[in-house]
Amino acid sequence: MRKNIVVGNWKMNLQRKESLDLVGKVISLLENQDVEVVLAPSYTCLYKVNKMCADLSFIQTASQNISKNKKGAFTGEVSAEMIHSMGVKYTILGHSERREYFNESNQDLQMKVDLAISNDLDVIFCCGESLEHRDAGIHFDWIKSQIEESLFHLSEDEFSKIVIAYEPIWAIGTGVTASSPQAEEIHAFIRSVIFDKYGMNVSANCSVLYGGSCNPNNAKELFSNENIDGGLIGGASLDANSFVEIIKSF
Ligand code: PEP
Repeated sequence: MRKNIVVGNWKMNLQRKESLDLVGKVISLLENQDVEVVLAPSYTCLYKVNKMCADLSFIQTASQNISKNKKGAFTGEVSAEMIHSMGVKYTILGHSERREYFNESNQDLQMKVDLAISNDLDVIFCCGESLEHRDAGIHFDWIKSQIEESLFHLSEDEFSKIVIAYEPIWAIGTGVTASSPQAEEIHAFIRSVIFDKYGMNVSANCSVLYGGSCNPNNAKELFSNENIDGGLIGGASLDANSFVEIIKSF
């Protein structure tokens, strides 16, 4: 079912104590509400953060990545099965930082998506264009091919485990947010691409989140759009008050 979701992507920022303090503060500021909150700490804190949230049905956790390999001699990698074994619900896949700095292709992401789903992890799948793509007018095609090439081999049933996060690269960590009409235009487009492939039931039930310099000042306007079902929050999720203000923008 289509849900409002706000995800905090802590990236490689917080030490163990900072992570646990932040979860504690977020929990103390939230009451049971309709928005699903997802925390994505580093691997090193994921188990503990997940345990701290275990009794709170409205808070879930996510890994920031998984290996594209199932198991075996891949030193330093963490598998989907390992993430699932900790009771974690989601994995983020295809963040632009992974695509850019770790050369993750749409085909690599297809492999990761399959491993996530076969290990019962829901996927927060990131897509989005660079400024060069937008200036060249190819941003719609770019986003469509990211979705098609990594996700459209899935069955309808499998696709129900996907949350899309539209994250224009030019807005990530820059303080420049997509305007509300710019974001809504792409979200409506993403939903239409899903509709063309899977039909009304799947497209209407897929949550599509916005990410890119979302903060307490712009969240309300962004989230008021028909096709924006929440946010993937980087910088502002590192501060409990800002993050909770964003969650309460619904
Ligand atoms: C992100 O990295 O997914 C992100 C949206 O970052 P920020 O909110 O800092 O732009």
